[in-house]
Amino acid sequence: MKTTFEEAYAIFNRPFFKLLKIAHDIHAQNFDEQTVQISDIISVKTGGCSEDCAYCAQSARNGAKAPKQPMLDLETVVNAAKKAKEIGASRFCMSASGRCISSEEEFDKICETIKAVKALGLETCVTLGFLTETQVKKLKEAGLDYYNHNIDSSREFYKNVATTRTIDDRLKTIELVQNAGINACAGGIVGMGETNEDRVKMLVLLANLCPPPRCVPINKLVKIPGTKVDDSNPIDDFDFVRLIATARVLMPKSYVKIAAGRNTLSEPTQALCIFAGANALFSGEKLLTVDNMKEGSDKRFFDKLGIKIERPNLD
Ligand code: SAM
Ligand code: SF4
Repeated sequence: MKTTFEEAYAIFNRPFFKLLKIAHDIHAQNFDEQTVQISDIISVKTGGCSEDCAYCAQSARNGAKAPKQPMLDLETVVNAAKKAKEIGASRFCMSASGRCISSEEEFDKICETIKAVKALGLETCVTLGFLTETQVKKLKEAGLDYYNHNIDSSREFYKNVATTRTIDDRLKTIELVQNAGINACAGGIVGMGETNEDRVKMLVLLANLCPPPRCVPINKLVKIPGTKVDDSNPIDDFDFVRLIATARVLMPKSYVKIAAGRNTLSEPTQALCIFAGANALFSGEKLLTVDNMKEGSDKRFFDKLGIKIERPNLD
């Protein structure tokens, strides 16, 4: 049965501790609540993007303009994946700037890289923008575990996020990927000027996918000077925790991931998120073009909470 916005918004607005209790109980019924899944991410191709995503350092259409870097070679990516494994990551994510990968040679290189990273005993995730059916087939054959494609916000707010693509374009790619038997990793960004209603509407869109994404990253906007949203109001910490808890209730079997911007949340706020059902994190020192966690800080944080790290689930 489909979740309605009214139902989801009522969950989001429950008294704070009641919401946390419901979300925590659902979490404990579906996962080991003392375990989190860790990913690390690398930008395999950076900058020069023709899309106009309002938040992104890599769009050539706004004032941020992250330095351009062509596709990395296989050895560089595999070395980064080995380091990710050393910090306890079970999944290695590879991100490319751009609307899509239009060069067959580049795409085939990415598929070879996926195989090499998988051979290290890591789950793989790539985020490459829009895909053709042939490309989806190649990713499946390469053994890809997750494809990341965020819907970023609500249908209503999307015009403020990007004009060079629509939220339906994004939803279609997620469907293509899921139909091929690849896990979808799909979430969004908060803190771009959207309302709590928009945030919950975004979760409802995700929860009503068949199936809901296996992984739902919630990114807290990392403000990049020169982008269209660099002066937007940040999300209130309690609203962030409420959103995580609502995601857990609406998508009981999905990994709910605190993705970008985690380094701007205090440890107690992160702990509340984990209690409310967040069970996946990015733990590397870099998130594409921006800084992430300081070396060793997550290990100390997990020790304080008695948290264990999940091992890779490989086919
Ligand atoms: N080009 C591909 C695409 O658009 O799908 C993949 C790369 S894109 C950088 C990956 C995701 O990172 C975006 O969908 C967005 O959700 C997230 N992201 C990018 N910049 C961000 C920022 N400044 N703050 C938070 N999340 C961000
Ligand atoms: Fe380009 Fe992806 Fe950034 Fe949008 S999010 S500007 S498509 S790199």
